[in-house]
Amino acid sequence: MSKIADNIVRFRESVEPQATLVAVSKTKPISDLQEAYDAGQRHLGENKIQEMTEKWETLPKDIHWHMIGHTQRNKVKYMAPYVHLIHSVDSPRLAKEINKQAQKNDRVINCLLQVFIADEESKYGFDEDELMAYLNSDAFKNLKNINIHGLMGMATFTDDKDQVRAEFKSLMAMFDKIKSEQLLDPRHEFDELSMGMTGDYEIALEEGSTMVRIGSAIFGSRD
Ligand SMILES: *Cc1c(COP(=O)(O)O)cnc(C)c1O
Repeated sequence: MSKIADNIVRFRESVEPQATLVAVSKTKPISDLQEAYDAGQRHLGENKIQEMTEKWETLPKDIHWHMIGHTQRNKVKYMAPYVHLIHSVDSPRLAKEINKQAQKNDRVINCLLQVFIADEESKYGFDEDELMAYLNSDAFKNLKNINIHGLMGMATFTDDKDQVRAEFKSLMAMFDKIKSEQLLDPRHEFDELSMGMTGDYEIALEEGSTMVRIGSAIFGSRD
């Protein structure tokens, strides 16, 4: 078995059935993605729309494409016909554009709202107050072509495991609150919590992740 195939099998054994493995293939060549596919992997994650679209055009059509990166609104139209799940919906304006492009394609697009949980300047997302206000707004309630499947968050890049755990716990608490207070119309399935990457997926799983996004531990480090 190839190294990539071997890694795919190993990771799926350790995260399933609790979580879905999203293999993050950004910057990697088509041949690497094909190896993952041949090992049975059907969920691939990318962080650039143009790159993802080129790969989508080339590879088998039963791959579920996950957009995990910060997204420019003017490019949403390129992925709207095929994207499986957008993890990185980080503003009301982006949600509105996704809804518009979903409508044009006569589909409902699955989305996660990205929440800012890290102690860093560089991470995108809603904070808790913004998130709650947004979910209660008419601007949100009027969007009929998106299905909010849950939340996504990235922990601080640190060796402090307690801090990472506390950040994941805070995301889980928001997820539970939204679910238990039934803040969303039932057409939103709200059943996924996307948290955990190569460095912190084990903690994320312990804190209730249902989707881990693993790149370098599967495909090797990126340039
Ligand atoms: C690149 C990336 C990942 C994967 O990172 P690794 O550390 O290589 O596993 C996960 N999530 C997001 C949002 C990313 O941009």
